[in-house]
Amino acid sequence: MSLYIRVLPLVQSDKLLRMTAKAFKMDLKNLSFLHNKAYVNGEWVSAKSGKTFNVLNPATGELIGDVPDMDLQDVQVAIKAAHDAFPSWSSITAKERGILLRKWYDLMEKNAEEIAKIVTLEAGKPLAESKGEVAYGNSFVDWFAEEARRIHGEVLQSPIKSKEMVLIKQPIGVAALITPWNFPQAMITRKAGAALAAGCTCVIKPAEDTPFTALALCDLAAQAGIPKGVINVVTSDRPNAPTVGKELCESPLIAGLSFTGSTEVGKLLYQQCASGIKRVGLELGGNAPFIVFNSADIDKAVDGAIASKFRNCGQTCVSANRFLIQDGIFDKFVEKLKERMINLKLGNGIQSDVNQGPLINKAQVNKVEGIVKDAVDKGATVVCGGQRATEIGEQFYQPTLLTNIKTDMLCYLEEIFGPVAVCIKFSSEDEAVTISNCTKRGLAGYFYSNDVTQVWRVAKKMEVGMVGVNEGIISSAEAAFGGIKESGIGREGSHHGIEEFVYVKYICFGNLQ
Ligand code: NAP
Repeated sequence: MSLYIRVLPLVQSDKLLRMTAKAFKMDLKNLSFLHNKAYVNGEWVSAKSGKTFNVLNPATGELIGDVPDMDLQDVQVAIKAAHDAFPSWSSITAKERGILLRKWYDLMEKNAEEIAKIVTLEAGKPLAESKGEVAYGNSFVDWFAEEARRIHGEVLQSPIKSKEMVLIKQPIGVAALITPWNFPQAMITRKAGAALAAGCTCVIKPAEDTPFTALALCDLAAQAGIPKGVINVVTSDRPNAPTVGKELCESPLIAGLSFTGSTEVGKLLYQQCASGIKRVGLELGGNAPFIVFNSADIDKAVDGAIASKFRNCGQTCVSANRFLIQDGIFDKFVEKLKERMINLKLGNGIQSDVNQGPLINKAQVNKVEGIVKDAVDKGATVVCGGQRATEIGEQFYQPTLLTNIKTDMLCYLEEIFGPVAVCIKFSSEDEAVTISNCTKRGLAGYFYSNDVTQVWRVAKKMEVGMVGVNEGIISSAEAAFGGIKESGIGREGSHHGIEEFVYVKYICFGNLQ
């Protein structure tokens, strides 16, 4: 199989994709979801340059297929298409938009299994997790299909008899959506669901590693009857991302940017958007504390720790990054966490018994390895793991548990984004809160406690946008997702998610008497 894959990269990719699916025993019922062209103005298109780039399966290193490597001129065409589609999309009723979103949701639900397989193929996560992501991602389209009809204005109490004053909400225009590889389906639906419900059209730039999921979603959007130009996907490789991204920030035809990714890139895009005073939503990196107090139910805390830390092999923005464990239960917690970690099964996520996939690419493996080496060099204790799992594949890293953590270690300071759990001992509540907040990031935070007064106190003191109390998995379409400090601005999901894509217009009716 790998022979075919290696000799065929220049052969037209439709064939390659079919062979790939067969070779991976993907049993894809509907191969038409696997598109090797970008989606612009309702059509499947190549890059104007004719260039393509390869997408690899992170579990095996094998080629999945290639997609257009688009650049400035391609993204300009997509932006124009979205701009041309805006007047008609924004002027149909919210109810009509809701119905189309509902059709899109129904198709995504119907084909959830197939989409989940594509997620596993290109992002590497275990199939059960991919199914979970797809269900989660779909729920945002379901939610926003309903929210479309609840974008209400206000009638004000005018202080002047001859005037009436009204506030209405209108869509901002074309939205640029730039998304990461770690949730290739949900990061798109969370943004596009809200944007489309509000009446915006959009241009999506998915991550280089995971374009196929984005393209599959376009296929279903087209089947749902979402008009041409309303959703566009521009694929580009990593070297082209800055050019494509800059245009998405600076084009006068773009009204706003919604970005999910690293804080470093978020800062750059924020600056680029400043030149046009664009609306900006940023969902950036985290450094989540996970505190376990002496009063906690340790078994529940360990369950939460495994769910929060090891989902997507630790490559989740809301992953627990620093475990802060109170001194009375530290040893017991570490022992129980280790027991669970050594039983995690690494492998190709398409196999049903696997619950830990690979890291997304070689750069990510090097980063995780460097963080562990730095900690060990500075005196950390490796309780388990601590090595690449090369016997399974080049991009696998052993679930790793570190103790004896010092404040100058990278694992203490940085978002690890890998299967490395670091446990820090603390003695007082104040100390735990201080450690939790000693970071520029403020996305999610978790703590386990059965002391009700402590629960309320600590929840309020944590400098984060989201708190899990005795819970390791917190996100849902009904809730507002987002961070504070350098973890971002704006919210996704909930009724707040729509606000990112509308502006308030004040209308004053005068001379009424
Ligand atoms: P990233 O490097 O910032 O990439 C995210 C997206 O931005 C990708 O599509 C990437 O394209 C693109 N990009 C990279 N450089 C760009 C540039 N100069 N101009 C325009 N676009 C550019 O982040 P990542 O490594 O993919 O994702 C991991 C980070 O995302 C972590 O920090 C994680 O915490 C964060 N994240 C946050 C949330 C949240 O909701 N807060 C959710 C998920 C992930 P290429 O792939 O082609 O480089």
